[in-house]
This record gives sequence, C-alpha cells and structure tokens, in this order.
Amino acid sequence: MERFKFSASKGMEGEPFLDEEMRQEILNAYEFRKQWPPYTYREYFDVTPELLNDFTDFLKTENTSKRKMELQPWITFCDSRCSFCYYPSTMFRSEFVDPYLTALKKELKMYAETKYVKTSEFDEIVLGGGTPTVLSAEQLIDIISFCEKNFNISSDYMIKITGSTHNLDEYKLKKFVEYGVLQLDVGVQTFNDDIRRKLFIQDSGEHAEQIIRKARKLGLYVCIDLMYNLPGQTMEIWREDVKKAIELDLEGVDCYPLEVYPGTFLEKQLKNGELPPPGDWKTEALMYVEAVEMFTKAGYIPVGHDRFTRVREHIEESCLNGWPWAGILTTGAGCFMGYLGRYSYQNTENVYEYLEKVSRGIFPIAKIHKSSDEDMIKKVMERLYLRLPVDKKEFKEKFGKLPEEVFPETIKRLKEKGLIEVDDNAIRITKLGDIWRINIAWEFANAKAIY
Ligand code: SF4
Repeated sequence: MERFKFSASKGMEGEPFLDEEMRQEILNAYEFRKQWPPYTYREYFDVTPELLNDFTDFLKTENTSKRKMELQPWITFCDSRCSFCYYPSTMFRSEFVDPYLTALKKELKMYAETKYVKTSEFDEIVLGGGTPTVLSAEQLIDIISFCEKNFNISSDYMIKITGSTHNLDEYKLKKFVEYGVLQLDVGVQTFNDDIRRKLFIQDSGEHAEQIIRKARKLGLYVCIDLMYNLPGQTMEIWREDVKKAIELDLEGVDCYPLEVYPGTFLEKQLKNGELPPPGDWKTEALMYVEAVEMFTKAGYIPVGHDRFTRVREHIEESCLNGWPWAGILTTGAGCFMGYLGRYSYQNTENVYEYLEKVSRGIFPIAKIHKSSDEDMIKKVMERLYLRLPVDKKEFKEKFGKLPEEVFPETIKRLKEKGLIEVDDNAIRITKLGDIWRINIAWEFANAKAIY
C-alpha cells in the first residue's frame, strides 16, 4: 500500500490577518451571525418510500463526477455526554458493540455492491462519531480493513480516526500508527479544567495534552476541536487555549463558536443560572478574530469549515475541494454528513431501529434531501462558505450562465460590502467576509436564482 506523504508546510506565515479598521468593519457587516450553513441535515425531510426508492435507483447509476470521495463509517457510541452536545450519539453499552459492528459492515457492504459506489473512488477513510475511540484499537482497525477490502480506495488515501483523549492510551495510539492511521481528530474544546468540568468533559486539560504529545511523538497528525465563547471563558482563557494549540505544533485546529441547542444539558444549566451566560456575538466575533491573528502569525492558514492548518493535505483535501460534486459516503446510526450525487441523508439515530433495518437489508435512512437544479447552483456558491473560490468558467459550463447573471443583486451587495471579491475568473471570500461566511452562504440560499 502506497502511503500518502504528509509534508508540514512551515513558512506559510502571513501578514497580520486584519488591521484595526477591519476589526471594526467586521462588527458592522451584519447584525448577528447565523448558526449553521444552509443545506445541512437540519433541513432534510423525513424519508418516504418514494424518496428511498428514488435514492436506491440513483445508486444503480454510474458515478460520473470523477471526484475522489470520503468514506465515513460512524461509531455512534460515547461513554459520556458533553453538556453542549447536540450530535446524535448513543451511550456506550458493551452488549451493543458486536451487533452494531456487524450491522455497520453489512450497511457498508450494501453500499459497496451498488453501481454508484463501485464506480466511485475514495481517498479518505474517516472513522466518525460519536467517539470511535470508546472501542478497542482492534475493533477500529477491523472496520478500516473491511473498508479497504470492499471499496475502491486510491493508492494515496488517508485514514483518520475521531476520538476523545480520555479513552486513548499509548497502546491504542501505537496500534493506529502501526496500521497506518495518519490523523487523530480529537474534541479537546478547551484545556481549561474549570470549563472542562462545566462541559462534563471527562479528563483534565493536562491529560489531553499528554495524549496529544504522545500521538504526535509517535508520528500521528493531530487535529483538535477548540470552542470559543464558552460560559466563563474570558478572552485571556481563550488566548491560552490557542497558545497551547500552537505550542503543541498541531497540524490542524478546528475552532467553533459555542452553539446552545435546545434539549442539551447546557441549555438547562444556562436557564437555571448554574452557569454564566456566554458572551454576546461581538465578544464571540472578537474571540474569533483573536484566533485568526494568533494562528496566522504562527504560520497556520484558515481552510474549510472552521480549520486552521499548517499542512498541505488539509488544503488539498479532494472531498473539500470537490464540493458540491465529490461526496461523502457515511454509514452507521445517527450519521448525518452523507451526500452522494444530489442526495444528502441522515441515518436513524436509534440503535435498535438501525440494527433492525440493516438486518432486513434496508438502507437505514431517516432523513433525505434531493437537491434541485436551483439547490445545486446555490450549493456551488456555498464554496465561499468553505473558503473555496467559485470558478466562473466551470459555473458557466455547468449552468449556462455566469454567477453574476444568476445572482446579480446578491453578488453586487456582497461586493459593495467588501465581503467578496470578483474578478474575471473567480469569486472569492475576502478577509472581511471570512467571519461572515455562514451569513454569506445564507444570502445565496435565500436569493432568487435567475437561470
Ligand atoms: S464526545 Fe463528541 S459526540 Fe460524544 S458527547 Fe462529547 S461532543 Fe458529543
């Protein structure tokens, strides 16, 4: 198996990201930041027999996109529940594990046997969740190996495992390295112990740091999640978190603002006054700007949804760069990031229902959305949200018109506000527009497309 050679791109250090004037302009561009970009599982419809038939018919067709895709088996289990978490996950129970892994393989096989998937190529295997690292290294490797045997995996593929530091140890890390896992994605959120306790994160910041250091020493890439605007998190604490991430020389850091979702434990704690409320959106925006400054000065560059990276592979990721034409094939209870062709889908969260459906040979889809022509046009504009250019020539080849002809008013308005820049070849997000990427994506989603 030929391995993909990572090369850390030190020396990307740039100019300060924003000057003082721009910092002020940022706060004036919109009145508030939207929470979530358009075309996510929150907008999908409940599956119907007709939609499921339509989807299975689509799977009988050839994949002509020629874009490399991501294969994302989903381990739904967590051994604790973080207070802010709104992800579909299931409390770990050992008796669930074997039936779940058997069903996961069966679901993977169901996809692998379709024409669409047989004519697709994957260059990433990503174990998502949930917390895959609640399982043993051997169980995880078995799933990866199953994927390698049953799918067209390109020679330069990457294996990534998502997890939590509290259920990782040297043995597991060594097994991952021996097998050829390249990256560990861990949800650190903050290194501050007081806030970690408030968020019900199981281990200490120091333990998280030790595991990360071990993983990096063994040669794994490490990418962590950090959250800002957490209850009790001052700008000083946030700076300490960013500083720690830089000091750890991580390959990537995904920075998310706190979102308080209905039904989470955090929502209750805030309602009951047990925790101080998070800062307002201006505080949140300034925390983000601070992170941008610190990371860019340290040689990281912002890419994709929310990442700061210092490695070429994150920038060149085919699944990211191929949006919306590439694809993510995801499987497992609760997985929600799947998109194949025009179909985006989320699986059922309930493990019993998942096991039952898969045992009957039914795709365990709970929600699905089939993009219309107009959706596809708008999804291409969502590349701006992903910090990718919209190639005007490609746009015209696919849709017969230039983006400025399809969205004349929206593009004019965003350009005048300094949030996007347009030249003869492409439309790009500006530094000023970077923080408002979700709002910009929504502007196109809500606009009338003239096509
Ligand atoms: S580990 Fe991740 S998926 Fe599990 S409860 Fe915490 S945030 Fe949610």
